Amino acid sequence: MTRRRWIAERWDEATATLEGAQAEHMARVLRAQPGMEADVVAGGRVYHAEVAAVTPREVRFNLIAEVEAEPALPVTLVMAVYKFDRMEWAIEKVTELGAECIQPVIARRSEKHLAQAAAGRVERWRRLALEASKQARRSDVLRIEDPLALKTAVQGDAQALRLVLAEQERSTTLHHALSEALNAAGDDVPAIRIAVGPEGGWTAEEEALFDAENWKPVSLGPRILRAETAAITAMAVAAALLE
Ligand code: SAM
Repeated sequence: MTRRRWIAERWDEATATLEGAQAEHMARVLRAQPGMEADVVAGGRVYHAEVAAVTPREVRFNLIAEVEAEPALPVTLVMAVYKFDRMEWAIEKVTELGAECIQPVIARRSEKHLAQAAAGRVERWRRLALEASKQARRSDVLRIEDPLALKTAVQGDAQALRLVLAEQERSTTLHHALSEALNAAGDDVPAIRIAVGPEGGWTAEEEALFDAENWKPVSLGPRILRAETAAITAMAVAAALLE
């Protein structure tokens, strides 16, 4: 049976508790009562659970049994900041596709006012990721890091397989680079980082930064995709190869 899934803010071995908007929704909109059953995610695990106590501020569950659930795919999207409405759409879709993390970056061609507003937007992005994670029945919530300057972000996680989406790349596709690396890695699936540029694309200096840190440029084909289409397509390619 498909039960609605909630993501607990607090938990221990036997109970899990929802707070804030989730608790309010359960209490006021769904009129939850003790005894009502639900799936609850607590600490990255999914449990079949039963409501034990309800107030508009807090809903406490007794955890009954762990339910099998798929972990996130080990993919971080390093996403240049661009128009927020389109970026939010990408956040929602890559969450549904199973990405583990988004690292927003300020690129040279991220519009100035968006770059300045990005840090203040992160909490909203995290709320969207939480909602999309619940809707997709994930066992965890896609993580959104604080925005970084690109030159700092390119140095992150040097052990990962690091791929930069570059529309001028002609010889290596994302699909090819990923399948080759996954075949070589066998059962030991590496962490994967995929960088997506802003609407105006990467500058030559940024391409040089990626190059200096040994990121591999990869293509999504001969057509120019909007940044959000590129992010979602890249995640779909990765999911198809990882699952
Ligand atoms: N500079 C480009 C132009 O105006 O011609 C557009 C950049 S595109 C809208 C935004 C980002 O999406 C790029 O920086 C790249 O990371 C990614 N992208 C778009 N199409 C791509 C493709 N065919 N292959 C690889 N990456 C692509």
